[in-house]
Amino acid sequence: MRILIQNGTLITFGSPCRVLEGHSILLEDGRIAKIAPHIEGPFDRVLDARGQVVMPGFVNAHMHFYSTLVRGLGKAEPSANFQEVLDHLWWRLDRKLSLDDVAVSAEVMLVEAIRKGTTTLVDHHASPGAVKGSLDRIARAVKQTGLRACLCYELSDRDGDRIIDEGLEENSDFAKRCAREQDPQLRALFGLHAAFTLSDRSLDRASALGRELGIGFHVHVAEAASDVAFNREHHGLSSVARLDAHGILGPKSLAGHCVHADSADMDLLARRGTFVAHNPQSNLNNAVGIASVVEMVQRGVRVGLGTDAMTVNMLEELRVGLFAQHLRQDNPSCGFMELTNSLFVRNPELASQLWGFPIGRLEEGAAADVILVDYYPPTPLDDTTALGHLVFGISQATVNTTICGGHILMEGRRLEIDVDEAALAARSRELAKGLWERF
Ligand SMILES: [Zn+2]
Repeated sequence: MRILIQNGTLITFGSPCRVLEGHSILLEDGRIAKIAPHIEGPFDRVLDARGQVVMPGFVNAHMHFYSTLVRGLGKAEPSANFQEVLDHLWWRLDRKLSLDDVAVSAEVMLVEAIRKGTTTLVDHHASPGAVKGSLDRIARAVKQTGLRACLCYELSDRDGDRIIDEGLEENSDFAKRCAREQDPQLRALFGLHAAFTLSDRSLDRASALGRELGIGFHVHVAEAASDVAFNREHHGLSSVARLDAHGILGPKSLAGHCVHADSADMDLLARRGTFVAHNPQSNLNNAVGIASVVEMVQRGVRVGLGTDAMTVNMLEELRVGLFAQHLRQDNPSCGFMELTNSLFVRNPELASQLWGFPIGRLEEGAAADVILVDYYPPTPLDDTTALGHLVFGISQATVNTTICGGHILMEGRRLEIDVDEAALAARSRELAKGLWERF
């Protein structure tokens, strides 16, 4: 399948983020085969991108598909702090999830991701009442919707020894499946909930197994001050230092949040080359604080952007991240490059590293993950202004067409996949009703 996209304005992402006016882009065999002012046919499909910007699909560095069915659930008691948010809502909910809930939750979020132009998602899954086979069910939804996802099961001692064993096995089984199949849509990390819910023994077992499998870890780190306080009190180390002591950090690993990482933690994260996923909307919502992205970047930490399931709209998350950083630093002029780099440079680096080929940039040889967004620039759009347009203009525009791996998943805002959106939502509502009754 040779698809030509012509007459659009290309925004490449990456560093530097370039604007290519009057260029066409050829997609072939799942990759970007050519970018040039004029490309010779024949083609199987030609997409006219007049009045549109052509960009790479977005990467979401930290996601929880399983949280879909909580939308509108009003039964949780009010929470006074982060631990109560977990106790009153998330840990009550995830224990009750069935495999069908897990599958439908993922499918709904993946369809939303297509609509928002997010083509790669790094997910972190928990369903302690239905561990075995949960990642395969999510993977099936990923295959059906045509996107890319990196999956893991979050290991935690909060549900007892049997669930720890099942969690180790689920991570291992799925990682082995990924290694065997080499499916360009699927990748695996080893999931851990957070240092404050994991014993030394469980961390060591996971660390040994992850090393044997040759994969990095995906873990929540220093999300709330209470996480750091717990680890200091019971283990004499910060959350970051304790995870490092068990061999969890490293260049393949992904640390979600790091809101309460201090300067020494940041230096350690930088030395280990660990990716950090910043999730500002979730951090604001849970009132846990805002990470100093400015200091992390200054100290050499690779900071990307996730949503923690608050949205799949990456430009929305970026805007909130920028505004939250202004408030955090008490400075309305700081953090623009740090935040925009997290989405347009670091997230593509993370995806490229996980998948083993370039993802998230418009360049020859990169994955054919491309979106077309309806946008007439009202001010000059060029290399020097592209980031401003993305944050303040394109973030408000509509994704028209989404392509992943060279397959058109949505065109002219119509889904082109084998999913009936209305029927999916109806099924999801039915499952949500059952889950809310069990909650
Ligand atoms: Zn999370």
